[in-house]
Amino acid sequence: MTKPTTTIASPSTAPAPCRPFPVPWCRPCAGTVDPIPLPVTQTTTNSTATRTPQPITGDWTLEDSADLYGIDRWGSGYFAVGDDGGMLVRPRGSDGPSIDLGEIVAGLRERGLGAPFLLRFDDITDHRMGSLRHAFDQAIADEGYQGTYEAVYPIKVNQQRSLCEQMRNAAAKYGFGLEAGSKPELLAVLALTADSPTIPIVCNGFKDEEYIETVVLSSRIRERIYPIVERPSDLDLIINIARKHGVTPRIGVRIKPSAKGIGRWQGSAGEAAKFGLTAAQLTEAIDKLRAADMLECLQVVHFHIGSQVCDIISFKTAITELAWTYAELRRMGAGVTHINVGGGLGVDYDGSRSATDSSVNYDLHEYAADIVYRIKAVCDQADQPHPGIFSESGRAMVAHGSVLVVDVLASSGLPALVDIETIREQVDDLDDPPRPVLELISTYERVHEGRIGELCHDALAARDEAIGLFQYGRLSLDLRAATERLFKSIAVTLLARPDAVDEDDTIVEDVRPMADVVRETFFCNFSLFQSMPDAWAIDQLFPIAPLRRLHERPTHRGILADMTCDSDGAIKRFPATDGGEFDEALLLHDIRDGEHYEIGIFLVGAYQEVLGDLHNLFGDTHAVHIELDEDDTWAIAEVVEGDTVREVLGYLQYDDNELRRSMRKDVEKAVRTNKLSVAEGAALMRYYENGLAGYTYLE
Ligand code: PLP
Repeated sequence: MTKPTTTIASPSTAPAPCRPFPVPWCRPCAGTVDPIPLPVTQTTTNSTATRTPQPITGDWTLEDSADLYGIDRWGSGYFAVGDDGGMLVRPRGSDGPSIDLGEIVAGLRERGLGAPFLLRFDDITDHRMGSLRHAFDQAIADEGYQGTYEAVYPIKVNQQRSLCEQMRNAAAKYGFGLEAGSKPELLAVLALTADSPTIPIVCNGFKDEEYIETVVLSSRIRERIYPIVERPSDLDLIINIARKHGVTPRIGVRIKPSAKGIGRWQGSAGEAAKFGLTAAQLTEAIDKLRAADMLECLQVVHFHIGSQVCDIISFKTAITELAWTYAELRRMGAGVTHINVGGGLGVDYDGSRSATDSSVNYDLHEYAADIVYRIKAVCDQADQPHPGIFSESGRAMVAHGSVLVVDVLASSGLPALVDIETIREQVDDLDDPPRPVLELISTYERVHEGRIGELCHDALAARDEAIGLFQYGRLSLDLRAATERLFKSIAVTLLARPDAVDEDDTIVEDVRPMADVVRETFFCNFSLFQSMPDAWAIDQLFPIAPLRRLHERPTHRGILADMTCDSDGAIKRFPATDGGEFDEALLLHDIRDGEHYEIGIFLVGAYQEVLGDLHNLFGDTHAVHIELDEDDTWAIAEVVEGDTVREVLGYLQYDDNELRRSMRKDVEKAVRTNKLSVAEGAALMRYYENGLAGYTYLE
């Protein structure tokens, strides 16, 4: 990587006075940033004791940071800004003890673990489960509902053993269970529940004979295991295999509700959905069960209208449909005891509390209250007993519990302002100076006085004209470079003018085309494809904020680029700060020599870890489980070390012994032919071997 610089030349005239956020580029910053900061040693005590508050920088307050990064909007009480400007985590919710995230990170560095790493807070996940339990208990009490509520954690959301064990262990405390969506997941769930035979297990997904036979036989050793009929052929297999083994299974059936979810996964419901039975197929299934004398075995009616359902209205209509299906099935003689409302309970990633893709317009309580109320209303009307309720909530239980910590290594900095005299001299020597160059010079000379929109239009037109001339071979490379420098200088200066923003501090429409030019690139040591694939694949927004210096005004505005060689490996969308759909840049602080600057990427506990891939052979990051001790200090419960280069290569069938052998042979040949000295050869082999044993990220 070439050495990026943040040096900004002084403007030819005095810079415009600084304005409040978000126009930080008016503060020139000086100095060159080392792309790989030197490690710093910090003393940590694992203590949550309060520290001396730091002075606030200028007119910037801790509340400004909380507001800028939306911490209270998306944090659900688990995150906050500390008095000394550090990001706090409160694993047991807003009333519980706080830990400084920067302190944890420094503590891990002292133990030799460098970022990127994933911090897993099992207490947060536990608190989420408790909150879900509480929301349903309250709704059940408020409505005088006669049935029970149980959440079954769909392990597809994150199958990490420790998390699934936590879910299994919490089953007794909260009355929860597990869901499997495939044959491998079923095998994991069966082993996980070996000592807990009463836990409810819901079995979804495509099923072959082996899958169904495993479930049917397991119902002898698991009290409540439910194979869900997703396609008509599943039922034929279940009936035949149950007969073969003389087992009375507890069967569930997934329906295709006509009401679809709203959001990215709305295709999970409706006529064209991949799974579920239509009304006609459902009545055929009833006939088959009756003919097999197994109508009593049909115990659960299920749907799933999609993940991250952003609008509560979708749940309202679909649940009413599901409740009527339950009532009808009972009227037809089926032994249905439970309604399974599937997954879909969403997470407010961008904190906008709206029915948009990365948000939700409801909370746990509204979700629970709506489900309980609607099912009760239908059952009372249909004169049927209130069923037990299952939900397959995954995302909402585990998203909050993981924070990805990433080092920002350097920033590209803002373009330097041009030396206008040099450009003038360059042009003065020409007989026929190209018009767009002259126009850009003239625009730059007027940049502090003229009408901002007009100057912006003039600069854009002249820049485009200059590019056109170059494409026809009528502009030299030198002059093209001069126009580029002029254009960038105009953009930087215009955007620093007070009239570049409106009263809400939003960049005015006229100069918006220039905003790209003043957007820096922050180089971050992680892989987007490995650690937050949904940001790449479906433009999912994730909240991101620095872990320290929140008492200082962030003065740099930019996008985040990862370590992959892919231009897609960048985060260019951030939760909106001004009510828009998203922001195109994030505000961060200047990166100081010899000092780590870490950012947290929050709410990454659901789906990201398991969907991540090995693009550019960046492997799993370290994952560190943090827990609170009895005295509310933090402790490391478990470290799951990230992939080494050797392991990642091994996944792709490279044998590291073979690699070393080939490399050594090549080095020895180079030594024999004097291309390398013996010492150089030895050094190269040492780097190679260390590299194989090392982390896949920059160390
Ligand atoms: N249940 C089923 C059948 C699913 O397909 C999914 C995921 O899409 C879930 C549950 C989990 O959904 P969520 O994580 O939105 O709660």
